[in-house]
Amino acid sequence: MTKEELWEAVLAQIQFNISPANFATWFKNTGIISKKDGVAWVSVPNAFSREWLENKYNKYILKILRSFDEEIKEVKYTVERTGLKISPKETVISLPETNQLEFQEFKVDKETNLNLRYTFGNFIVGSFNELPHAAATAVAKEPGLVYNPLFIYGGVGLGKTHLLQAIGNEISKNFSHKKVKYMPAEKFTSEVVAAIRGHTIENLKAKYRLLDILVIDDIQFLAGKEKTQEEFFHTFNALYEKNKQIILSSDRPPKAIPALEERLRSRFEGGMIADIGLPDFETRMAILKTKTQERKIDFSEEVLSYIASSIQKNIREMEGALNRLVAYQRLNNQPPDLEITKTLLKKLILSPSKVTSPKKIIQTVASFYDLKEKELLAACRKKEIIKPRQVAIYLLREELKCSYPFIGRKIGGRDHTTIIHGFNKIQKEIASNENLKEEIDLLRQRIYGF
Ligand code: ADP
Ligand code: MG
Repeated sequence: MTKEELWEAVLAQIQFNISPANFATWFKNTGIISKKDGVAWVSVPNAFSREWLENKYNKYILKILRSFDEEIKEVKYTVERTGLKISPKETVISLPETNQLEFQEFKVDKETNLNLRYTFGNFIVGSFNELPHAAATAVAKEPGLVYNPLFIYGGVGLGKTHLLQAIGNEISKNFSHKKVKYMPAEKFTSEVVAAIRGHTIENLKAKYRLLDILVIDDIQFLAGKEKTQEEFFHTFNALYEKNKQIILSSDRPPKAIPALEERLRSRFEGGMIADIGLPDFETRMAILKTKTQERKIDFSEEVLSYIASSIQKNIREMEGALNRLVAYQRLNNQPPDLEITKTLLKKLILSPSKVTSPKKIIQTVASFYDLKEKELLAACRKKEIIKPRQVAIYLLREELKCSYPFIGRKIGGRDHTTIIHGFNKIQKEIASNENLKEEIDLLRQRIYGF
């Protein structure tokens, strides 16, 4: 592997893991200059990038570099305005102007926090997301008048952020006087915390109350954050009373968000709730085709259908797979065939049984119900803990076919009769309780999602 190939491979990997905006900001115009005595020298376009990469991404970059080349012990960064510096005889690949991957750059608007990359135009609709899409377009047409709040939920990488931002962008375009703000719930929480600490909560309140459209992404992050929930509740009411549009997303329905105040839950349930399911094969193919067309790249039907059949539950992962193939195509000036595709995607495509484990199931269940692993396993008879524990038992049995005694040992050393009782209880209840069934489906998605 030449150092250029090495860097391309590193970039492909990073691009798969961080947001496009971050990627474009920090990794565009970077390259490897040299690799000697265990030190990889990376060129960056300016001092700001250097500082950022050193402080925020250094460990990460080193880890990925080392996964390709174990000899590398350290990464150093140097400002190089022209980007890559390669002596001509070393140039193995000839790409049009630069030796770097080209990325479409979209800036995030400072005022609205919206990224123009997300539009309705490049959002593909299938039966899995028809309802949320229809609700989203209706809200974008008549903000504040149709569904308020609009609550969209679904698994990871299935288009919630895309849809939320598309609504924001569409409204900004058609109603330029309306003040729109997009906020990940995590960021909202840190704003609230900072405002409390700095005694500026009144300013924060005032700022939010001026909005016409408030979009909060991944609202499940408010679970257990009482102060933030309190603040959000008042903001919500203030906006709602003035017919201002509120749009929310979550990885689960309101009723399955643990430690969410009842009054907020009932607010969330007061508007329209729409869920994004899983795209079927045809839709996955359509998404892949659109994405390759956008990038003016032609992969064979065979290759696309391999991706669509191997990655079923996460559109972001499908994009990650495409990115790898695009990197390959750029390096080699020819598209990968099926065999090469399989090799390139080996690490991304694993069968579920390989991905999950008792530990993973226990961790996932604990975090889903906002419990510590210890609490889930301890000898406690509280109702709030018994149910999650039984769900863990159920999933260990269903997903991994573990024996009852084995599950007993994993779940804090319990007798196998207790385990059988727990399993039967959940199995029975699922048949009649839609909510529980949905929770278990969501848990399954999470167990296999990452
Ligand atoms: P989530 O917020 O649900 O985790 P995202 O909205 O970030 O998922 O989507 C992950 C990636 O998949 C994004 O790059 C997004 O543009 C793309 N994507 C998701 N759904 C669609 C869709 N229906 N059509 C086209 N691209 C999609
Ligand atoms: Mg998202």
